[in-house]
Amino acid sequence: MSCGCTHEQVKLQENILKKINNHPCYSQNAHQHYARIHVAIAPACNIQCNYCNRKYDCSNESRPGVTSARLTPEEAVKKVLYVGGSIKQLSVVGIAGPGDALANPKQTFKTFELLEKYAPDIRLCLSTNGLNIEKHIDEILKYNIEHVTVTLNSVDESGEVGAKIYPWVYFEGRRYHSTEAAKILLRQQLKGIELLVKNNILVKVNSVLIPNINEDELPRVAKKVKEMGVFIFNVMPLISKPEHGTAFGLSGVKSADHRLVMRVREACEIDMKLMRHCRQCRADAVGLLGEDRSDEFLKYEFADKSFEELQAHYDIKNRQEAHEKIEQWRALLQTANEKAMQEEARKYELSSTGETKLVAVTSESNGLINDHFGSAKEFLIYEAGDRAIKFIMNRRVETPYCKGPAGCGTYVIDEIKKTLSDCDILLTQKIGECPRAELSDIKIICDEDYANEPIEISVLKSVKKHFSFEKLKVC
Ligand code: SF4
Ligand code: SF4
Repeated sequence: MSCGCTHEQVKLQENILKKINNHPCYSQNAHQHYARIHVAIAPACNIQCNYCNRKYDCSNESRPGVTSARLTPEEAVKKVLYVGGSIKQLSVVGIAGPGDALANPKQTFKTFELLEKYAPDIRLCLSTNGLNIEKHIDEILKYNIEHVTVTLNSVDESGEVGAKIYPWVYFEGRRYHSTEAAKILLRQQLKGIELLVKNNILVKVNSVLIPNINEDELPRVAKKVKEMGVFIFNVMPLISKPEHGTAFGLSGVKSADHRLVMRVREACEIDMKLMRHCRQCRADAVGLLGEDRSDEFLKYEFADKSFEELQAHYDIKNRQEAHEKIEQWRALLQTANEKAMQEEARKYELSSTGETKLVAVTSESNGLINDHFGSAKEFLIYEAGDRAIKFIMNRRVETPYCKGPAGCGTYVIDEIKKTLSDCDILLTQKIGECPRAELSDIKIICDEDYANEPIEISVLKSVKKHFSFEKLKVC
């Protein structure tokens, strides 16, 4: 029996699967198993976004936070070798700022050239505002960069929406303002995306969701990028505070809250495959997506070592063996989750009654419920019915419930309660009586029965355990 695909189409599908299988951003399934590193080698930018202050990390791909040390291409590659030898799950290197990768082409392509030489097993990514893709497409192809992220916040041809986001754009030796700037940027972004897709590069489009500015625009962006053959679309909530010093922060434009993000994502998903697990990482992020180990790998530890010394530490053979083990574990997990995973394909039929529940999960890694409530800095949020489940988003908190021995006795739960206020169940490895009672006050059921179990199947089981779907009442 044939699936109706041509030989070329099957090969293309296989090729895509190979490229995303161990990419934590392009594959939701991979993100609890493989790590990424961003190397901060690109300080300059050729546009200004009203949500960015480059004294902080690029808001396109990073949480606002003071930028750590910038690196030269040589230092960046040494860091990759040093980190890759220590964190074997490392599978991807990205250049995501703190400015724009393609506004710093010399540093960007030198880094990729050295990576090709010293770390040939690692996948290469860059992220850009899209202005200069056309100019650098040959180098992107030359260095075998498989994944490119383009930030596209509007497809409004009049430039009116863009003009509210970009005060200026610097293009071919001239600075443009207002709608003229927005139109040039959009033209170059669309041209660049078209070229990347034509050359079989997997494109992810990021849109920063800016309340009252482009929230109605994003479903149109989703539709457009789907038509263009973009692989995945990522709606990133604006993070805006006056202390970030951005134009939006200073003029009172608010962060996008969870409800708005969920609503806009639902509207966009009608047309386009969405990334829902993005962590808006720093421009120098290191580790699994849910963690940031950037401060464990400091410049003085690797900068003076030779490439040969660091290559020995990187040890490609050892890394390959580690990746084989990860794949074996993922296969086991897949079997364990099989029922839920199969059901998930029917995601528009989560429930036989049409009603669903939200389940929050604490997980450190490996696709398991293996984080204590007290130490959790983020919660994975699933929507579940009696038939299937769907991953909705991750939600971070600034302060975990327990701050470790130094903060013993000072427990803060208000932020967590606010973050989980619309959830029905919390699945966690361990939770104390006090926080359990606090969460019970806002009608969240805390359940430790699935500690160290695979996430998806546990979410499905827990919803069926606690709710009757004939009447949808608490049992
Ligand atoms: S493209 Fe990135 S670095 Fe440039 S202004 Fe926008 S957010 Fe900042
Ligand atoms: S910002 Fe999002 S897409 Fe970029 S590395 Fe982090 S999780 Fe992946």
